[in-house]
Amino acid sequence: MLFSRTFIPTVREVPSDAETISHQLMLRAGLIRKLAAGIYEWLPLGLRVLKKVEAIVREEMNGIGGNEVWLPQLQPRELWEETGRWQVYGKELMRLKDRKDADFCLAPTAEEVITDLVRREVRSYRSLPLMLYQFGVKYRDEIRPRFGVMRAREFYMKDAYSFHADEADCERYYQEAFNAYKKIFERCGLHFRPVEAESGAIGGSFSHEFMGLADTGEEGIVSCSCGYAANVERAECSVCPEPAKPETPQVSEVSTPGATSVEAVAKIVKRPKDQFIKLLVFVADEKPVVVLIRGDHELNEAKLQHYLKAKWLSKASEAVYAEATGAPVGFAGPVGSKAVMIADHAVKTITDGVAGGNRANVHVKHVVPGRDFQPAAYVDLRKAIEGDACPRCGKAMTYSRGIEVGHTFKLGTKYSSSMNATYLDPQGGSKPMVMGCYGIGVSRVVAACIEQCHDDNGIIWPQALAPWQLIIVPLNMTHPEIKKTGEQLYEQAKSAGMDVLYDDRNERPGVKLKDADLIGIPLRIVIGERKLAEGKVEFKRRSDKTGEDVPSTEVLQRINKA
Ligand SMILES: [Zn+2]
Repeated sequence: MLFSRTFIPTVREVPSDAETISHQLMLRAGLIRKLAAGIYEWLPLGLRVLKKVEAIVREEMNGIGGNEVWLPQLQPRELWEETGRWQVYGKELMRLKDRKDADFCLAPTAEEVITDLVRREVRSYRSLPLMLYQFGVKYRDEIRPRFGVMRAREFYMKDAYSFHADEADCERYYQEAFNAYKKIFERCGLHFRPVEAESGAIGGSFSHEFMGLADTGEEGIVSCSCGYAANVERAECSVCPEPAKPETPQVSEVSTPGATSVEAVAKIVKRPKDQFIKLLVFVADEKPVVVLIRGDHELNEAKLQHYLKAKWLSKASEAVYAEATGAPVGFAGPVGSKAVMIADHAVKTITDGVAGGNRANVHVKHVVPGRDFQPAAYVDLRKAIEGDACPRCGKAMTYSRGIEVGHTFKLGTKYSSSMNATYLDPQGGSKPMVMGCYGIGVSRVVAACIEQCHDDNGIIWPQALAPWQLIIVPLNMTHPEIKKTGEQLYEQAKSAGMDVLYDDRNERPGVKLKDADLIGIPLRIVIGERKLAEGKVEFKRRSDKTGEDVPSTEVLQRINKA
């Protein structure tokens, strides 16, 4: 490919609205452009990389018996009503009406559509197991689209669905899909970790997330040397042993004008955060719920929702907070409260606590759980943090961050039961099919890869995802010898079957070299006047600091060995 005929609009300046490295580099290297908030155009360079990921995913899906299909992105409301998800999905579902006023949504996922297809076409156990998958655009009406394609409103995914006669076969296949996922991310050159995960809006009995490890990742992971790893949303927190309670003075009030956060109150009261009792108010299925959690911990809403068996959970408005606690926001506490409270296990470890005083600008100190208040229940409600005991072996866990690039779910009969997707077993009995589903954020894999593979000068593509393997850079196109050598090498590389980009532009050497680094082609040949006089060109790997001088007649053989 000739650089002069491509469309790679590179940019030197760091775009001001791009927070993460991958977002910045995808814009600067000309992979994507923004059309509207969370909606991106993929330019030729970006699309080439996307297609590389897609090809790897397709091979591995076919390798586990997958059949590729193409499903509609426009999905009728009726199907979503059958599973109750028209309501459950809430505002993230992109909804629209046709000219007859019928409701549709733009696919965020395809469980309903695929289950409908299979229930119409599959009748007998003889047709099972069956795995269907597709590549397609998905939609999510994000409240705050950010990080470029990482949290976009329109994105490119592979979604796969498997149908089985029984639980055992579904679990056997889940393991196959799990292994195929490991192969995919290994082949993409990604550093990743599979972790136990929450199933969220997809539901089902168990699931794993595949996390690309990156400090900028949005997801928190805790992991242990014994092999246990989980999303912090999922990780179980062990019950801390209750400490011996010292002689703590009686509860007394402290004036805390305007101090509504743990940080602000801590400045006045001078107590560590782990001695604070945070009081939070939620609304679960329209009923207010009062929750207590330690000041250094974060509430895990998924755990609270599970415990309450609630369909809906949201933070309470100021009015609901005031009504439930009788105190202004930031000043409610458990001491003397009439509210029914649920506390996280770790609240029990507090020996001399600080809490809201149930009046404006007042907190109380010397609070002891059990002595000064009694919650209705102690439950595991918090997110795991660095140093927490591993739920499997008890050793301290480490915390890291990741980007979710894949997610596998064992759905069981959640969809087949509600949508009546049944088959006839050998005895002629009607049974619900058992399902699994398996997603990969193809566009996210590209961004995750850049988060892991870059330096100050730009992207460093792993060979498997590189848009081109080799870039040939003649430093001066007006120099006849340089131009001739460049064209010869370009032709030879092409006929050797290499994927090569030839920078034939009449640009300054600095511009060409900067662009080559920015777009991250793994192998580079530079043809300059001084070295060419000795019959040599420079060969350099994008990942290396320095290159080597090689006779121009031998450089392609040298690359084949690289
Ligand atoms: Zn462990």
